[in-house]
Amino acid sequence: VDGGAPSYLDGLNPEQREAVEATEGPVLVLAGAGTGKTRVLTTRLAHILATGRAKPWELLVVTFTNKAAREMRERITHIIGPQAEGLRWLGTFHSVAAQILRRHADLLGLKSSFTILDDDDQQRLIKQILEAENIDAKRWTPKFFASLVDHWKNRGWTPDKLPPSEGAVFANNKGQHLYRLYQERLRILNACDFGDLLLHNLTLFQKHPDVLADFHRRFKYILVDEYQDTNVAQYLWLRLLAQASQNVCCVGDDDQSIYGWRGAEVDNILRFERDFPGAKVIRLERNYRSTSHILAAASHLIKVNKGRLGKTLWTESNGGEKVRVRGVWDGEAESRLVAEEIERWRKGTIDTGKRPYKDVAILVRASFQMRAFEERFVMLQIPYKVIGGPRFFERAEIRDAHAYLRLVQSPDDDLAFERIVNVPKRGIGDTTVQKILQVARGAGVSAMTAARGIVQTDELAAKTRTALANFVRDVDRWTRMLAEAESRGESAPHARITETILEESGYTDVLRVDKGPTSQTRLDNLKELVQSMAAFDTLGDYLEHVSLVMDLDREGGDDSVQIMTLHSAKGLEFPLVFLPGWEEGVFPSQRSVDEKGEKGLEEERRLAYVGITRARQEARISFAANRQVYGRWTSQLPSRFVDELPVENVEAASETGYYGGGPGMQQPMTSRWDDDRSFGSGYSSPGWKRAQERGYHGSHAGRQQVIEGEGRLVAVSESSAGSDYKRGDKVFHQKFGYGKVAGVEGNKLTVDFDKAGVKKVLDGFVTKG
Ligand code: ATP
Ligand code: MG
Repeated sequence: VDGGAPSYLDGLNPEQREAVEATEGPVLVLAGAGTGKTRVLTTRLAHILATGRAKPWELLVVTFTNKAAREMRERITHIIGPQAEGLRWLGTFHSVAAQILRRHADLLGLKSSFTILDDDDQQRLIKQILEAENIDAKRWTPKFFASLVDHWKNRGWTPDKLPPSEGAVFANNKGQHLYRLYQERLRILNACDFGDLLLHNLTLFQKHPDVLADFHRRFKYILVDEYQDTNVAQYLWLRLLAQASQNVCCVGDDDQSIYGWRGAEVDNILRFERDFPGAKVIRLERNYRSTSHILAAASHLIKVNKGRLGKTLWTESNGGEKVRVRGVWDGEAESRLVAEEIERWRKGTIDTGKRPYKDVAILVRASFQMRAFEERFVMLQIPYKVIGGPRFFERAEIRDAHAYLRLVQSPDDDLAFERIVNVPKRGIGDTTVQKILQVARGAGVSAMTAARGIVQTDELAAKTRTALANFVRDVDRWTRMLAEAESRGESAPHARITETILEESGYTDVLRVDKGPTSQTRLDNLKELVQSMAAFDTLGDYLEHVSLVMDLDREGGDDSVQIMTLHSAKGLEFPLVFLPGWEEGVFPSQRSVDEKGEKGLEEERRLAYVGITRARQEARISFAANRQVYGRWTSQLPSRFVDELPVENVEAASETGYYGGGPGMQQPMTSRWDDDRSFGSGYSSPGWKRAQERGYHGSHAGRQQVIEGEGRLVAVSESSAGSDYKRGDKVFHQKFGYGKVAGVEGNKLTVDFDKAGVKKVLDGFVTKG
C-alpha cells in the first residue's frame, strides 16, 4: 500500500509516521530517550519541504545547541538535497532571536551592530552600577545580581513587569531600580546580555504587532527539539510566533529536563496542551538506540524520581554487555583505566575489526574532571576533543583577544576598551582609565573617542599620554586594515589581522618572554583561536558565533575521543560511553543538592539518565575512592546513583579496581553488592564544593572601574558645544594649580599655569579659580 510513499518515510514505526504526517495543527511528541524524536522532527521537516507545503525559509526550527542545528541541516540535506541551504531560521533559541533582533534593533533603541556581552563583561558592568549606587558589593555581589537578572529575563520580566517581591530580594528592595539602570546602561553601550535576546524579542512582538504579523506570515511551520528544556521566556516566544498558524510541533522528554537552573520548566509540557487546545499528543515507546541492559539500567534509575509523567520504553536490541561499574583508587587510576579500555575497544574483535576513537565519549559532570583525561590522552597520544562547556572561550587570553577584536569591530564597545587598554601592561593605570571613562560618560561618547580627545591635552603625564596615543593609533590602524581587507574581498581577513593585533599589541611577546607554566598553553590557545576564525566570512560573523556558541564544538571528521559534560551530551549518541566520577558530591553535585535539595537531586538523576542513554552498545561507570582537590586529598563515597542501578543489568568489575583503605593499604575492591554498606548518606569531601564553585577569575578582577565621576560633566567630542571658559579666566587645576586661560578650543583649554607653565587641559578638570 505504501508503494507510493516517499522513501524518507521508510522504516518509521506507525507512531513516528503519524507525527511526521500530522503537519497541520499543534503536535506534541512526548517520549523517552532514543525513541527517534529528533529523527521524527527531521523527517517531518523534510516531509513539509518535499510535499511543497512551505519553502525552506518559511520554517522556524529550534534546536538546543548549534551543533544540533548543524547536524539537522546535514541530515535534511541528505534527504532533500541542496534546497536545505535555504533553512535560514534553523538554530538555537538564542541564535534565531539574535537574528530577529538585528533586523529590528532600531525599534528597541539599539543599533543592529549591538554586542552580545559575555558573563565577565556583564559582571563588570553590574559592578560599576552597584558602586555608582553605593551598594555594598561585598554583601550584594554582582554575581548574585547577574543571576537574578538572568532569572528575571528567563521568566520574561522586563524591569516594568518585575513583580515587587522579586525586586525586594536585592539590596533592600533596590532590585527593580538597579535592573532598570542596568538595562539603560546596556542600551547606551549598544549591548545585550544573553537573556536580552529573547526578552527584546518579546517586547518587540508585544509592542509592534505589525512586526509580529510579519513573522506570522513568514513562519508557516514551527518545529522544536528538546522542548522539555525551554524556559518561560522561550515558551512565550514560541506561543506568540505560533499563535496564527498553530502549526507547531514540539518534541521532548520530561525525564531529560536538565536545565532547571536556567529556568527551564517541565510545566511547559502541560501548558502546551492547555494553550494549544486540540493538540495531538503522540507517544513513542520503542527505543532504537541502546541495548536492553543499558535501557533497563537507565529506566530503573529514573524511576526513583517522583515528579514524572511516566512512560514505557522497550527495545528489540536484546543482550549486549551489561553496564560496567568500577571503583578505582583515585582520579589518576580512573583516567588510566579509561585510557586502557579505550585502546582495547579500539583494537576491536574479529567481528568488528578495528574501531574508531570517535565512537567513544567521556561524559563528565563538571569540567574540572576533564583535566586528568586530557593529560593522560596527551601522554598516550590518544586523539581527543573537548566538546561543550565554555572553557575555551572563557580563558583569559581568548577573552582578551576577543576584546581587541570587538573594539576593532565596534569602537563604542567600552567594556572591551576597558578590558584591554592596559593589557598587556603599557603604563595606562587605573586612574587614567577611570579618567577616560569619566570623560566619556560625561560627554556621552565612547571611551575611544574620549581617549582621542585626552591625548591632545596635558591631562596625562607625558609617558601615559604617549602610551594612550599609541594605543588609539594602533586600534585605528587595525580597524582600517580590516576595512581595507574586507573591501578588497580578501577571504576571512580577520584571522590574519588578529595575528597582527596579537603581535603588534605585544600580547604574544609577553607570553613568549614569560616562562610561567601556562604561557605555552596560552600561546597554543591563541593559535587555535586564529585558526578557528578562518571558517567565518567576516569578523562580525565570527564574533556573533562566539557570543552564541555556548560550547566549543569544533566539527570535523577527525577520529578523536570526545570529552564533554553531561549537559552538552544531550541528544547525542555514541557506541561506547564512559561515565566517570560517580561519587557523592561530584555526581550528584554537592552544590545542586545543597542549593535545591530534593529537586536538585532529581535533576541530577535526570542527568544520570541522560548520560546512560547516550550509549548505544556499552556504558561504563566509574568512581574513585580518593581525589585530590587543590592539593588536598579527600576520600570519596560512591554516588547513590550507583546504588540505584538494577543489579541484574550491571556488572561490577573487581579485577582492576581498588576500593577502600588508605594509601598503601590498597585492597581489591569488593563489589558493593557483596556488602550491605549504604552509600546514600553524607558527603565526605567539602573540598569538592570549592572545586565546583571554581568560578573563573580572570586577570582583570582588580581593574573594575568606577565610571561615575564626582565632577561636572565634561565634553570631549569634536562636536561638543564648547566651553564655559573664555580667555583670561582664572582657573584652578588639581594637578597644575592656578593659572589663566590662554586659549579655548572646544572643551580643551590652553592654560598658562603659575607654576607649571603652559598646558592643554580639559575644561571638566578645572574650576574657576
Ligand atoms: P534523545 O531523547 O536522546 O534526544 P531521540 O528520541 O531524539 O533521543 P533520535 O536521536 O532521534 O532519538 O534516535 C535515536 C537513534 O535511533 C538514532 O540513531 C536514530 O537514527 C535511530 N532511529 C530512530 N527511529 C528509527 C527507526 N524508525 N528505525 C531505525 N532507527 C531509528
Ligand atoms: Mg533527540
